Amino acid sequence: MAVNSQATLEKLVSLCKRRGFVYQSAEIYGGLNGVYDFGPLGTLLKQNIRKAWTNSLLNLDLDILFMEGAILAPEKVWQASGHLENFHDPMVDCMVCKHRYRADDIDLQKPCPHCGNKQWTEVRDFNLMFKTQLGAASTSVAYLRPETAQSIFINFKNIISSNRVKIPFGIAQIGKAFRNEITPKQFLFRMREFEQMEIEWFCKEEEAMKFFDMWCKERINFYKKIGLNTENIHLRAHEKTELSHYSSATSDVEYQFPFGWKELEGIAYRGNFDLSQHMKFSGKDLSVYDEQTKTSYVPHVVECSVGVDRLFLTLLFDSYHEDTVEGETRIVLKFDPKIAPIKAAFMPLSKELNPKMEAIYKEIKKLGYEVTFDDSGSIGKRYRRQDEIGTPVCLTYDFDSEKDNSVTVRDRDTMKQERIKIDSINSYLKKIIEK
Ligand code: ATP
Repeated sequence: MAVNSQATLEKLVSLCKRRGFVYQSAEIYGGLNGVYDFGPLGTLLKQNIRKAWTNSLLNLDLDILFMEGAILAPEKVWQASGHLENFHDPMVDCMVCKHRYRADDIDLQKPCPHCGNKQWTEVRDFNLMFKTQLGAASTSVAYLRPETAQSIFINFKNIISSNRVKIPFGIAQIGKAFRNEITPKQFLFRMREFEQMEIEWFCKEEEAMKFFDMWCKERINFYKKIGLNTENIHLRAHEKTELSHYSSATSDVEYQFPFGWKELEGIAYRGNFDLSQHMKFSGKDLSVYDEQTKTSYVPHVVECSVGVDRLFLTLLFDSYHEDTVEGETRIVLKFDPKIAPIKAAFMPLSKELNPKMEAIYKEIKKLGYEVTFDDSGSIGKRYRRQDEIGTPVCLTYDFDSEKDNSVTVRDRDTMKQERIKIDSINSYLKKIIEK
């Protein structure tokens, strides 16, 4: 049972702000609840998460096409998908202090956790979609998408007719989604504006369960490859009562957060519900022709859906470590080097060595690595700064460097040091990132 007990939400929120990973959105105006901005390091970390996800799909040797759909979609789309009717959470208010809760989050037999009174309103359904109107006349209603999946389904015909793909194949997308969560909480775990990475895998009905099993296996592999502690991830099959009416199999990849095992990614066999619904509501034929049987059919779908931000938070929890070095607490983010926002820090031992080290740093930066130059404070302080943001290696240029054409490399996790030749820095970094 390996939950990482050293990381708490408070410590992570504070680290994220202190080091420029994540800020509360519009903080100088009091903040916007459930909405966050990403600073320089957070932006790099997100880019690495997207890159790792995309590469994990490209490496599978399957037909997968990528697309970027619009965030706005007309009402009809959400009627067809069922979101207008069903995408809601139960909401309840305390009549005394007006605090609002998700009714399934609290025990209504007990008093309000905020003010201690027990006077609840009726439980009402609250639709989680953000509604808006297009144009000056405001006659056309649109919604911000609550998931990226529907833009894949409504483009299914466009994609198959403009690309030479055959069933089975997948369409993948990374993009923003919006949900007016009643109580956003746990930092990046439940946000109102977030980003999803989704793949819709189109196949024949008789092959769907085989592909469902394949995707469950591949998605767990992905989390292992990006370095998550395997004891903190598992696959949980939904009980029959939990399944959506259109799904005959759904499994969640769950992560063991300090606040419990929670969904990180959903893998769902959705039948052909989505395409059939869009056929019905749009009047357009979304079936494909099977050369073998000479008949048309509506493909079945297996969906894998994970939040970029929820994975970001998971990686922070998973990589956070504290130990004691020279009597002081050292905070380390033990990110896999592929995921680490900064790959290496270049440090001249003394200011007079700056020009030499800066020249090496610039050469390496030109090769496309995310690297940083740090010449302020003691070497010990500089190491601590890099440990805290998860930089896998620090390179130091000292007074011997000129003579032996070498620098000292210090490993973030073991803190061991070794001497390497300056002209081998590129291959050294390449090796640790590709490991
Ligand atoms: P939950 O039960 O946690 O609300 P869900 O079942 O509604 O999740 P899905 O609709 O399956 O979530 O969305 C797929 C993925 O998108 C989730 O596994 C999660 O990683 C991410 N996600 C969903 N809602 C949010 C949110 N409000 N904030 C951040 N990420 C989210």
